[in-house]
Amino acid sequence: MIITIDGSVATGKSTVAKNVAHALGFIFFDTGAMYRSLTYALMKHDVPLNDPEKLQKFLDGFEFDMKVRKGEKKYFVDGEDVTDVIRDEEVTSKVSEVAAIPQVREKLVSIQRELALGVNAVFEGRDMGTVVFPDADLKIFLTGRPEVRAERRMKELKEKFPEASDKLTFEKVLEEINRRDHYDSTRETSPLKQADDAHIIDTSDLSPEEVVYRVLECKDRQKRKT
Ligand code: C5P
Repeated sequence: MIITIDGSVATGKSTVAKNVAHALGFIFFDTGAMYRSLTYALMKHDVPLNDPEKLQKFLDGFEFDMKVRKGEKKYFVDGEDVTDVIRDEEVTSKVSEVAAIPQVREKLVSIQRELALGVNAVFEGRDMGTVVFPDADLKIFLTGRPEVRAERRMKELKEKFPEASDKLTFEKVLEEINRRDHYDSTRETSPLKQADDAHIIDTSDLSPEEVVYRVLECKDRQKRKT
């Protein structure tokens, strides 16, 4: 069984997807982390994004490297643990540009479909229910008011990068969220949009636990219908 959870920045996708997977005993895949790891690798190797041949050569040799350590997912590039660094400002400001490149999407979509073979899994991202798994058993689309999402993102960034806290302002974070959402929703290949058969949940005034509960309710309701 495949469950997809899509939505814009800081709607709580990762937390909810992780907890839904945990509740059901499913595997959880954070596809944003895949786009972030690849972005980091492209930056590290100075691969020119506007040179399709060089980019393709790099993509052909790129292997997505993820391991579970002490119950937590860790992401690696060339053997280096990049789990934290792929969340920093540099990668965050570049990732949407990388994710809009059709060659990049082709590569990661094929890896994501391979990961789904023969497993029960929750896939979280932007195009899971529309492009990667159009036949998913359950599709969820999370939304939220931009101001609430900016507050959440501020909190997350302060916890992850306390040394950079002074430079963070609500306005800057809100601007970054709106910029990334705009980029993700208006790109030509696999734009962020809800699948016609997705259940929409506005997370603005809900705790993560409440959202998880609603997702599990959607799953039960769907099962009763089939
Ligand atoms: O979810 P997260 O914020 O970590 O995703 C980082 C970026 O990766 C998104 O802003 C989007 O540009 C890209 N992405 C995507 N398709 C996915 C997952 C993420 O384009 N399935």
